[in-house]
Amino acid sequence: MNDRIKYSVLVVDDNPTNLKLVANVLNSHYKLFIADNGEKAIQIALSKSPDLILLDVMMPGLSGYEVCHVLKQNDKTKEIPIIFLTAKTDENDIEMAFDAGGSDYISKPFKTKEVLARIRTQLELQGAKRKLEKQNEELKELIANRDKFFSIIANDLRSPFSGFLNMTELMANGLAEFSQDTLNEIGREIHVSAVNIFKLIENLLDWARMQRGHIIFEPTENDLYKIVDDTIQSLMPRANHKQIQLINAVPQNCILKFDEKMIFSVFRNLLSNGVKFSYKGGMVSVSLDTSNEKEIIIIVSDNGKGISKSDIEKIFKIEGNVKSKGTDGEPSTGLGLLLCKEFVEKHNGRIWVESELNRGSKFFFSIPR
Ligand code: ADP
Repeated sequence: MNDRIKYSVLVVDDNPTNLKLVANVLNSHYKLFIADNGEKAIQIALSKSPDLILLDVMMPGLSGYEVCHVLKQNDKTKEIPIIFLTAKTDENDIEMAFDAGGSDYISKPFKTKEVLARIRTQLELQGAKRKLEKQNEELKELIANRDKFFSIIANDLRSPFSGFLNMTELMANGLAEFSQDTLNEIGREIHVSAVNIFKLIENLLDWARMQRGHIIFEPTENDLYKIVDDTIQSLMPRANHKQIQLINAVPQNCILKFDEKMIFSVFRNLLSNGVKFSYKGGMVSVSLDTSNEKEIIIIVSDNGKGISKSDIEKIFKIEGNVKSKGTDGEPSTGLGLLLCKEFVEKHNGRIWVESELNRGSKFFFSIPR
């Protein structure tokens, strides 16, 4: 790999002959920035964020140690490794170089090979450190994702199951007293609940696969109207219970290419949120904006409790951890929207929300045509 393209080095020395000498050595290996005093060095470090700084100790004005101290105090520059260039080899000075936060020192007069080797070592160390930090971040996110995932298993399974349990309890207690019509009605509702639970488990398994990086993205031609209708049917028992109207304003036979499972999950999450956060007598609807040639925009709106401005900014971020109970005390996990975002982005689409407290929310997502 060509280091010159990859890394930049700031050389700081008040002596023009020294500067030229170092610049000649480094020029063919790195992108170079040059400063002949401490103030300039700080300016360049802040504006250019070099990968490494070679810093002369003895300079008029700010000394190398002072420059180092300033840079190590600033979040923007504190991680940049600094190698001191020093004419002194006195042990005291070496100690001061490390105390000031320097990573290494080179005594003048220096040898070309030594300078290059020491710079390379520091850059490699820095690269390894960055890689570790990145992996650390990724691990943290993975763990946070898993925690959320387990909590959704615990909570989201509870509500469809409780409907199911109520129904079976009714049957267990008084089957003989029910008319044929009531039995048919109960049977139908049990079936809807069972289908609901089955779909939820299917989704959970898909999510588990996603967590493990085994996501299956299978876009096929599907009818958007039908998928909205299916979602609405599956949410009917809850919506009826809360007397909330669900409206499918998507035109029939609206054929589009998308992954059916993922988009079903997006609708299920958005519509069930609509029901969850709306009051008795409310309305949740799905409509389309087809004015854009490149994408179809789907709008899920409700006239429920709305979302505060500060929550809107955090709602699609795992670290935002926004969750609140539904208007009927329904549990929340704060995972649904994260999954929606992931699924929509798999389609190269976007997802966003407009909302006003006590007026309602409009969730938008796009699917490229
Ligand atoms: P959950 O619904 O399990 O909490 P979500 O990620 O779907 O998870 O939603 C996160 C949070 O965003 C909710 O707890 C709620 O505070 C807010 N929210 C989502 N949708 C709506 C909505 N339609 N109306 C009001 N608040 C909402």
